[in-house]
Amino acid sequence: MSIRVRYIAALVLIATLVTLSFIVMHDLISEQKQDAENINVAGQQRMLSQRIALMLSTGKTCSNGPEREYLEQALAQFKANHQQLVSKNNLPLPIFNVYFVEGKLDRSVNQYIKNVECALTATNCQTIAPYDIQALTELLKQLDYVVTLFEQDASNQVDTVLSIEFYLWLATLALLCIEAVFIFSPMEQTVKQAFSKLTRLKTEAEETAEKARKASKAKSEFLSSMSHELRTPMNGLFGMIELAIDNPEKSSIYLKKAKTAGRQLLVLINDILDVSKIEAGKIKIEQAPVDLLQILDDVVSLQRVYCQRKGLEFIYLKDPDLPHVVEGDITRISQILHNLLNNAIKFTERGSVTLKVRYTKHPNGNFLSFDVIDTGIGIASSKLDNIFRKFEQADKTTTRDFGGTGLGLSIAKQLAQLMNGDITVTSFVGQGSTFSFTMAAKRVPPA
Ligand code: ADP
Repeated sequence: MSIRVRYIAALVLIATLVTLSFIVMHDLISEQKQDAENINVAGQQRMLSQRIALMLSTGKTCSNGPEREYLEQALAQFKANHQQLVSKNNLPLPIFNVYFVEGKLDRSVNQYIKNVECALTATNCQTIAPYDIQALTELLKQLDYVVTLFEQDASNQVDTVLSIEFYLWLATLALLCIEAVFIFSPMEQTVKQAFSKLTRLKTEAEETAEKARKASKAKSEFLSSMSHELRTPMNGLFGMIELAIDNPEKSSIYLKKAKTAGRQLLVLINDILDVSKIEAGKIKIEQAPVDLLQILDDVVSLQRVYCQRKGLEFIYLKDPDLPHVVEGDITRISQILHNLLNNAIKFTERGSVTLKVRYTKHPNGNFLSFDVIDTGIGIASSKLDNIFRKFEQADKTTTRDFGGTGLGLSIAKQLAQLMNGDITVTSFVGQGSTFSFTMAAKRVPPA
């Protein structure tokens, strides 16, 4: 049953209970009002019977005068009261019995009235009491008993009201408990769930908005850095060409420099294209058989030459059980390795550059790891996170001293992640750095 239906059912039940209580209580209270009136009339009868007897016994009621008038009034009231009491159709049974069955009070009262009327109309105006003492005492006793019976009836009614009130209170309490368990508790749960869903959605919306804000900020930052970075080698290129034109005798020197600036520009444009492709999700990582040992040989033979030129030792360590062929993207693997080794050589003045290659078997999939270790300038720990961001360099003077765009590592890390791997770094200033590149690599069995 849905919460709404349960809730409506509970409300209907409560409304019914309240209406029922109202009707019952209203009836009982009207009956009590009636009881109070009955007690009053019955008490009056007792008092009037005594008054009538007393007035008659004085003998002053024979002649016309105020005493006779009082007596007539009292008798009229007594008669009317009696009529009122006996004509009630809901007379309690014990009282009915006293009047009509056992006690025959109705007859006694009527006889008493008749006697008094006779006494009043008698010509000789006897002062004889219209009723003998014994009969009058009996009448009084019965009238008194009627008052007691009316009082008892009223008291019973009060007890009934109290017990009905108690049961109504119990029923209301039970109904409220049932509502608490079957309606309010599930309703609270539903409200709580809706609230936490709303909170989650709000957080998600805020996160999405924050991401969008960051993305748009990064985009505009990227655009401004890119135009700045492009301008530098462009200016160099045009400057050198102008110098070559103005100084034909030194043109070969300036043209060589112009060529270097042009190459830098090309590297930068390639890097920017890579970044844009990665960000647009347009870079596709190939999954084709790659001759791993061949790539490593190609990379190592080129980088070894660069090392030798700089007077650095080049150390190449590879696991003996390296797979010959793995599934992967040949271009991207060598791009990353060249980038890491170029950096290692670029930022190392003396010592060595080491390339360590391992193949690790793992239940979730085997992977290759390449460690590029150098004994160069190292990176301050506070800069370690920044170097993987676009156009970020550990030291702003780096470009001046070593050149570079600050895009290489950002591209390499994103490519590694696209290959289900990553690039991490540990480094100490003045002691060197270790860049670890991992990638998922399935061994391809020899054909
Ligand atoms: P860049 O073209 O400037 O080399 P990268 O993204 O490849 O751009 O590198 C970012 C920065 O990380 C470099 O400018 C340099 O400050 C730092 N860095 C990278 N590799 C090394 C390394 N082997 N030793 C010291 N610093 C390094």
